[in-house]
Amino acid sequence: MDNHFDVIVIGAGAAGLTAGIYLSRAKIKTLILNEGSVGGQMVLTHEIANYPGVENISGYELGRIMKTQAQKFGCIIKSNLKITSLDLNNEVKKVITNYKDVYTCDAVIISTGGKSRMIGAVGEDRFKGKGISYCATCDGDFFQDKEIIVVGGGNSALEEAVSLTKYASKVTIIHQFDHFQALEHYIDEAKKNEKINFIMESKIIEFNGDEKLEFVMIQDQVTNEITRMNIDGVFIFIGYVPNTDSLEGNIELNKWKEIVVDKDMRTNLSGVYAAGDSIQKKYRQVTTAVGDGTIAALSAIEYVSNLKKEINEQELVQ
Ligand SMILES: Cc1cc2nc3c(=O)[nH]c(=O)nc-3n(C[C@H](O)[C@H](O)[C@H](O)COP(=O)(O)OP(=O)(O)OC[C@H]3O[C@@H](n4cnc5c(N)ncnc54)[C@H](O)[C@@H]3O)c2cc1C
Repeated sequence: MDNHFDVIVIGAGAAGLTAGIYLSRAKIKTLILNEGSVGGQMVLTHEIANYPGVENISGYELGRIMKTQAQKFGCIIKSNLKITSLDLNNEVKKVITNYKDVYTCDAVIISTGGKSRMIGAVGEDRFKGKGISYCATCDGDFFQDKEIIVVGGGNSALEEAVSLTKYASKVTIIHQFDHFQALEHYIDEAKKNEKINFIMESKIIEFNGDEKLEFVMIQDQVTNEITRMNIDGVFIFIGYVPNTDSLEGNIELNKWKEIVVDKDMRTNLSGVYAAGDSIQKKYRQVTTAVGDGTIAALSAIEYVSNLKKEINEQELVQ
């Protein structure tokens, strides 16, 4: 059957492409289905400086290399489609796209990634990766001696604001409420840091600039007064949303809608694995996605090989 694959990988970010490389190299017939452009969140990153072995590379280029590498081993990649229906409960799994294409397979790897929760202000999309960041570990270093804003009032916002003072000359925390939701410890650390100051009960309503972010418009939530602030960068930490909407009811998710996996990236369903930013984990990086993708692929290879062995043995008996 042309539309039957050993493994279908859903999502072509760092995790899915890595899985594609390992699976195809092991001669496992693999299809990767991806919504949007190949590369996932890597494409949003103008510069990746913490991927071991590569001093400096654009996220787009790293994604392009991973894609070529997977295709070189025979992996088929289809992008710009939507998966509209999944049947993962039986031995033969079924994936249906918005083009009504039906694909079947013996194992599935879900690597649909996720996205940081956005503020929803004017210009946010335009300046993503051009002054707006959602990842201090990834981008903090680019703001050496610069003035930045951190948006948010939870643990990550305050923790990352403190960590960003290693680079930035000044960090302004903007929070919509008059109090923080973070643990006392994080609040204390931020308050005693001389580089940090606070604007409470306020929201950024607009990001603006030319090629890159140059200023933001801030609205006071009590008086509605709007002020302009010139700024080099804005880091947003108001939560994370895994891309698992289409999986609800199909597979076990935790209360944050992250996919529950064991150490071998197995989900609660036989022959279904998950990897990368869509799984339950703390650190979301290209390196960790690549690691998860490797483990998921190796687990799926073992599963598919055992399945084939069982079928061969049954055929010999008959
Ligand atoms: C601005 C920014 C900068 C970053 N900088 C760095 C950095 O410098 N260093 C670093 O290590 N990490 C960085 N990160 C984090 C890193 O990019 C991610 O952790 C990593 O790329 C996640 O890979 P992934 O494959 O798990 O998911 P993603 O990259 O999110 O890929 C998931 C793919 O699945 C697709 N998809 C989603 N739903 C479906 C569906 N239903 N059907 C089919 N396809 C679907 C998506 O379109 C996407 O292509 C950065 C992140 C951002 C946002």
